[in-house]
Amino acid sequence: MVSLGSPLNVVLPEQLADNLAEFSAVHRRHHLGGRVCFAHKANRSSALVRRLSATTGSIDVASLPELQHALGAGFVPGRILATGPKNREFLWLSARCGATVAVDSVSELLDLATLVRQYELSPVRVLLRLSGFVSRAFTVTPRPSRFGIPLSDLDAVAELLDTLRDAVELHGVAYHLDSIGLAEKAIALQSCLQAMSALQRHGADPRVVDIGGGFGVDYLAEPAEWERWTSDLTSAVLGKRPPITWNGHGYGLRAENGTLRGALGLYPSHRAIAGPAYLDRLLATPAPDLGDRPLSTLLLEHLHELWTEPGRALVDQCGAVLTRVSEVREGPGGHHLVRLELNARNISAEEHGVLMDPVLFGSAGVVPGSAPSEAAGPPDEPCGVYLLGNLCLETDLITRRVVHLPRLPRVGDLLVFANTAGYLMDFSAGTPLRQPQARTVAAWREGERWRWCLDEEYWPTQVFPHGTGALE
Ligand SMILES: *Cc1c(COP(=O)(O)O)cnc(C)c1O
Repeated sequence: MVSLGSPLNVVLPEQLADNLAEFSAVHRRHHLGGRVCFAHKANRSSALVRRLSATTGSIDVASLPELQHALGAGFVPGRILATGPKNREFLWLSARCGATVAVDSVSELLDLATLVRQYELSPVRVLLRLSGFVSRAFTVTPRPSRFGIPLSDLDAVAELLDTLRDAVELHGVAYHLDSIGLAEKAIALQSCLQAMSALQRHGADPRVVDIGGGFGVDYLAEPAEWERWTSDLTSAVLGKRPPITWNGHGYGLRAENGTLRGALGLYPSHRAIAGPAYLDRLLATPAPDLGDRPLSTLLLEHLHELWTEPGRALVDQCGAVLTRVSEVREGPGGHHLVRLELNARNISAEEHGVLMDPVLFGSAGVVPGSAPSEAAGPPDEPCGVYLLGNLCLETDLITRRVVHLPRLPRVGDLLVFANTAGYLMDFSAGTPLRQPQARTVAAWREGERWRWCLDEEYWPTQVFPHGTGALE
C-alpha cells in the first residue's frame, strides 16, 4: 500500500452492511416499518454507497453530486431522500427522477412546486422538515437552527399544501437535530407525532416520521480515559499541572482569575449509549405530553413509518486513515514533534472535536531519500508527542494535544487513525499547496485473506461474484 501514497483512506463496506442490519433490528424490535437512510455526507466513498445499494438500506443525499452518485450506484429513486439546502438543479433532478424531498422552508416548497409545474413532472413526495420544538412538560429550550419550517407555521403550510396538490404530495414530517441530547430529541419526535395529527385534521394523509441522524459513535474503548483526560485538561487550563496541549489550547475552556470558564467544545469521545442502542433508547422514551407512553408505541398505534438518517453511526468502524511519518524532532515541554505526510484536512479529528490516539506500526518500507531521524530518543520508551501536518501553516496540527505512543515514531513508520469514516476522513479534504487528495481503497475479507481494490473500482459483484451480498 506504500505505493498508493500517503495518506491513504481505507473503507470497509461490509461493516456498513453490518451496521445497517443493527439499525434494522431496532426497527423490528419495536415492530416499526420504515427506512434507514444513510446520510451520504459523512463519507464520499463510492464503495460504501455501492455496498449500501446492494442492501435494503436507503440513502439521504444533500447535494446534486450526491444525488447523481446515489443514482449511479443503483439506488432507485424510491430509496433516495433529498435533504439539506437545495438549488434549482438539485430540486429538478430530485423531482425528475422521483426521489422524496425533505423540504427545508416554504420558499423551497414553492420552488419545487414551480419546477414540477413548469416541467410537467409527476407530483413529488415531500417531507416537511420541522424545527422549533417545545414541550409543556419539559423545559429544554431548543437551540435555534437555520434549518426547517417553524412548527408554529404548520397550519399555514398545511393550507398552502392544499393549493399545491397537483405538484407535491405530503408524505410526512422530518427533523434533524445537530445534538446528542435525548430529551431534546424526544421532544422533537413527540412534536412530530402531534404535527402528524394536525396535518390529518387538515385532510392530508402523511405516513412518515423521519427523525434524522445524530445517533452518535462511542470512540473510546475505555471510558475512564475520557474522564481522566478531561479532568487533566481542566487542571492544565487552571495552571494546576503542566500543559497537555499546544500553547495551552483549552478546547473552549479558559481560566479567569483562577476560575474555569467556557465550555468544552469537543465531541464526547466516550458515549455509553450510541448508534442503534441510542435509537432503541429514544424509541423507548416516554412522550411527556402524550400520556407518558413510549414514543415507539405511539408511532406503532398510528401506523406511522419510522425513517432515520444516520451518518456517523452507520459508518462506525467503517474506515481508517493511514499515513507515514516524515520527520521527528524535539519540541516544547519535552514532547517531540512528529510530522506526518498528511494535513489537518485529511484527518479532521481536531476540526470535528473527536480525540482518538492513532495506532503506530513499524516502518512501512524504505522511504526514498530519508535517513532515520537523528533526533529519535531512546527507542521503545512510551512518549508524548504532537502530530503535525505537512502544510507550511502554523495551524496545521493534526493534534493540538499531546498524544501518547508506545515509543517514539521513526521516519517511515505508519500511523493509523482508526474509525475515521464518519466525517473525519474526507469531509474537509482538498488539495492545498497542490498536494494530491488521498486515495481511497475498499477492503474486505475473503476467507482468511484480506482483499482490496481502488474505491472507484469497487462493485458488489466483485466481492460477491455469486450474489451473496444482499441483506435481508
Ligand atoms: C448531517 C445530517 C445527518 C447525519 O447526521 P449524523 O450525526 O452523522 O448521524 C442526517 N440528516 C441531515 C439532514 C443531516 O444534515
